[in-house]
Amino acid sequence: MVERGEVANSWRHERWDSLRLLTPNWQFRLPDLSYDGPDPDGYMGMTEVVERIERFAASAGARLRTGTNVTSVCRTDDGYRVTTDHGEIGCRTIVIATGACNQPAVPAFAHAVPQTVEQLTPFDYREPSRLRDAGVLVVGASATGVQLAAELKASGRPVTLSVGEHVRLPRTYRGRDVLWWMDASGVWDQRHDELDDLTRARRLPSPQLVGTPGRTTLDLNALSAMGVKLVGRWAAIRDGRALFSGGLRNVCSLADLKMGRLLGVFDDWASARGIEADVDPPERLAPTQMPPAPGLQLDLTSGEIGTVIWATGFRPDYRWLKVPVLDSKGHLRHNGGVVIDSPGLYALGLPVLRRRKSTFIHGIEDDAREVIEQLARSLANGSVGPALRSGATR
Ligand SMILES: Cc1cc2nc3c(=O)[nH]c(=O)nc-3n(C[C@H](O)[C@H](O)[C@H](O)COP(=O)(O)OP(=O)(O)OC[C@H]3O[C@@H](n4cnc5c(N)ncnc54)[C@H](O)[C@@H]3O)c2cc1C
Repeated sequence: MVERGEVANSWRHERWDSLRLLTPNWQFRLPDLSYDGPDPDGYMGMTEVVERIERFAASAGARLRTGTNVTSVCRTDDGYRVTTDHGEIGCRTIVIATGACNQPAVPAFAHAVPQTVEQLTPFDYREPSRLRDAGVLVVGASATGVQLAAELKASGRPVTLSVGEHVRLPRTYRGRDVLWWMDASGVWDQRHDELDDLTRARRLPSPQLVGTPGRTTLDLNALSAMGVKLVGRWAAIRDGRALFSGGLRNVCSLADLKMGRLLGVFDDWASARGIEADVDPPERLAPTQMPPAPGLQLDLTSGEIGTVIWATGFRPDYRWLKVPVLDSKGHLRHNGGVVIDSPGLYALGLPVLRRRKSTFIHGIEDDAREVIEQLARSLANGSVGPALRSGATR
C-alpha cells in the first residue's frame, strides 16, 4: 500500500484545529475495530481519529510504503506501471483509494476577488485568530461552511454566509442522533444500483451537522440566531462586488422539504418496526427563517470583508492517472468501484460508490469487501492483467 504522506494523512494535515467528526463515536467502525472509548455518543477530535486509524493500520498488518507519492499510473501490456518518487512498481491490478476530497473546489471567478481581501480554503484555515480583524464571507452552507461560520461568529467577527443548495438535518431526532436513524432505518445502506438518480446522489453536499458535546443542531436558523447574515448563492463578481442569487428562499424551502421527507421515512420505519415506545414522538422543525431582505451584493473593496472562505466543496485529484478513465467533469467512470473500460482498475472511498455511506469512515468496509471479492475473482479467472495483451491496451 502506497501513501504519499503518513497514515491518516488527510486527518493530520488537511483539517482545521477545532474539527470534530460529525459522525458519533459509536459509528467509528473499522474492520475488527469498533469504538471502545468512554463516550460512544460523543464526536471525536482529530487527535483521536489519527490515533485510532494508526491503531487500525498496525492491527491490519498491511505492508505500507508511506512517504511515497504516486506521480503517474500508465497502462502496460500486462497491467499497469505505477511511477512513484521512490521508483516504479508493475502490477496487474490497482485499487485507487486516494480519497474524494484531495483539493478544494473553488469557483473560477475567485481570481476576480480584490487583492485586498484574503482568500482561504478549508485546507488553509486553522482557527479564527489567524484571520484579519474584519468581516468574513463564508461561501457554502454545507457541513464545512456552517461549522466555520459558527466558529468565526463566536470569535466576534461579523460573518456573512452565502447559501446554495444544502442538506438540512437536525442533530437529534426523536431523542436519537440523526445518524442513528440513517444507520438503523437502512437509508445509509441504500445501494448504488437501487437509487433513482445516482448521479444526483453522488453530488449531494454534506449535511449541515456539527459534532458538539451539547449535540446542537447547526442549521441556518441556528446561525441566524447567532447573528450570521444569510445571502444567496454567490453567482458572479463584477467591479469588486460579489453578486448573490435571489434564490435563497427557494434553496431553503427545498432543503426544508427534503428534510421533512427524510424524517417521514424515519417515522414510517419506526412504526413499521414497532419501536415507537423506544423513541420520542415525531417532531417537525420550524421552516428556515428568511432574512427580511437578503442582500444581493456586497462591495468587497469597502474593507467590510477581510476574508473570503471558500467552503464550496472538495474534489479528487487524478492528475497522476494517465489512463483515459475520467469523465468530462474529471470524475472516475466506474460501476460500483469497478473502473469502466480499464480491467484491473478499482476504486474505493468515492461518493455513493456502492452505498450512500461509501465516503464515511464506517461505510468503506462493506464496499471494500465486495470490490476486493470482485478483484480476487478477476485475478483468479485471468480477466485482468495478461488479458490486456489481447488488444485492450491503449
Ligand atoms: C472536512 C471533512 C470532514 C469529514 N468528516 C467526516 C466525519 O465526521 N465522519 C466520517 O465518517 N467521514 C468524514 N469525512 C469523510 C472522510 O474524508 C472519509 O470518511 C475518509 O477520510 C475517507 O478515507 P479515504 O482513505 O478514502 O480517503 P482519505 O482520508 O482522503 O485518504 C486518501 C489518502 O490517499 C493519499 N494520496 C492521495 N493521492 C496520492 C498519491 N498520488 N500518491 C500517494 N498517496 C496519495 C492521501 O495522502 C490520503 O492519505 C470528512 C471529510 C472532510 C473533508
